[in-house]
Amino acid sequence: MNTRTDEPSTQTRRSGLDVAVERFAAALGAEHVTTDPLQVRQFRDPYAHPAWVEHQPAAVVSPASTEEVQEVVRIAAGTGVHLWPISQGRNNGYGGPAPRVGGGVVVNLRRMNRILELDAELAYAVVQPGVRFFDLFEEIRRRRLPLWPSIPDLGWGSVVGNTLDHGIGFTPLGDHQARQCGMEVVLADGSVLRTGLGAMTTARTGALRKYSYGPSADGIFMQSNFGIVTEMGCWLVPQPEVYVAADVVVERDEDLAALVEAVRPLLLDGTIPNHPIVYNTALVAGALSDVPRSHWQQEPGPLTQETLLQMRAETGCGAWFMRFALYGPAAVVDAQQAPCEQALARVPSARTSLRRMDGATAVDELLERARSHTPPAGPDGAVARLRQQSDSTQAGVPSLDLLEHLSWDEQGAGGHLDYSPVAPLDGRSAQDLCDFLDGACRDLGVDFAVSLMLTSRVMIAVVSLWFATADEAGTRAAYTTVRSLVHRGAEQGYGAYRTHLEHMDDVAATYDWNDHAGLRLAERLKDVLDPQGVLAPGKQGIWPGSMRDPADRPLRPLGTHVDDGTVD
Ligand code: ADP
Repeated sequence: MNTRTDEPSTQTRRSGLDVAVERFAAALGAEHVTTDPLQVRQFRDPYAHPAWVEHQPAAVVSPASTEEVQEVVRIAAGTGVHLWPISQGRNNGYGGPAPRVGGGVVVNLRRMNRILELDAELAYAVVQPGVRFFDLFEEIRRRRLPLWPSIPDLGWGSVVGNTLDHGIGFTPLGDHQARQCGMEVVLADGSVLRTGLGAMTTARTGALRKYSYGPSADGIFMQSNFGIVTEMGCWLVPQPEVYVAADVVVERDEDLAALVEAVRPLLLDGTIPNHPIVYNTALVAGALSDVPRSHWQQEPGPLTQETLLQMRAETGCGAWFMRFALYGPAAVVDAQQAPCEQALARVPSARTSLRRMDGATAVDELLERARSHTPPAGPDGAVARLRQQSDSTQAGVPSLDLLEHLSWDEQGAGGHLDYSPVAPLDGRSAQDLCDFLDGACRDLGVDFAVSLMLTSRVMIAVVSLWFATADEAGTRAAYTTVRSLVHRGAEQGYGAYRTHLEHMDDVAATYDWNDHAGLRLAERLKDVLDPQGVLAPGKQGIWPGSMRDPADRPLRPLGTHVDDGTVD
């Protein structure tokens, strides 16, 4: 049942918002504050059904400096409105720019887009939150610096936002939380602090050593709602002498365990220095084959084994397709490549391909390849497209290639929701996890399309559920499916690493050891740092005291419609 409302939940909130908007406009300039429904709509969840507004903000405010962020926070505290900070807000499978609680104010940090430091000798940058992966890459190229940034698969997100959400990248500094170093944060009372060595007024650097003296605070500002990050240090990879982009096609389903067993020691001892990804057939055929789902299967229900075999035959992607890369001086890369090839040769149905490039010219070569070489349309081109995208991403060259393809939807408005459980990196666990996910997806009537991101000790499985956002029932079903996977996964011991707004409470509930001691600590911090709940109430399941009882949460149910003329 859809409920219809265009009303904020109380009259007080409406007047609080009106006053806040006036004050934001006085502080920042009217052009940097909007309540215009069409502009505000740009900050809703892009993959929600077009008529849904449960996560639609009431206003968007765009500060240009740390001082303006402080002012915005103070105004919000004085008027009782709540804020939802975003850097670029492109975190689409998890809700994009939209707030957990609809009707709040998005703090859009895209105007804070300066690269404050970029140092080739010590290989680091200090960036404001609006700096996109594209911007950092382009600035490095403009200055001709021998540096490669670590980037995720889509280049339009921000360095800061992705890090704060525990994002992963694919050069050797792909653990984005780990390569972060030093931050400036505005707290809910409008005060500002710097972490790490930047906490000294006379600091020579804030971005070279993560720790200073006393407790290290950076981690509490990630996947939380304790502050707004206005600057962040970020380490960069020195351009290697040699770059090898590699992939492995594994033909048989049952050889996943052998593949994982072969790769784990190479990750543990650093022979493979980046995060490989293993894709299954449905993911490659679905995300990169350039043909709609109906090309493969007309009959209802999840993809059959017959269809999967057909997909493998037409795309050549195997049951599993793994990408990884090597970097360093030629002699080091040679020494890495040999054990990789030997280990992968022992995986029964595996075929490895390697593309070796001179590090100094690799980026030009990859950009030229993207400009001049268009893989064939249709299933034949899927592996070529994936190679092109992977080789670039693993060299820090950002693109939006995956976005163009990531849709089974024939109406051109495809959305996806992800379920992302974490499991130990061993063959048995990989098999167990995939058997569980395959079985659960079949049981829930959806396709099992997965990317397994490998780190040295765990794999993070990102199960992608694709749907047409125009299909309201189908969109709703995807949310229900993810919720079900979260709970079924937790029963099997799998915790999710990141999640959509709508499932934040569900995931928080699964981290339940000792009566949710972790969440209770976060709540105690919230009570001290933000007792009013100015900042992002409900993010990661952390609610302020006044909303801790679910009955007090001003939430609109999934599928809430609005009738204000903004829906086409
Ligand atoms: P991206 O820039 O990569 O698209 P988002 O802006 O979507 O990332 O942010 C990812 C998550 O991090 C969101 O939950 C968002 O609320 C939070 N976030 C983003 N930027 C900030 C920031 N500067 N301070 C605090 N939280 C932030």
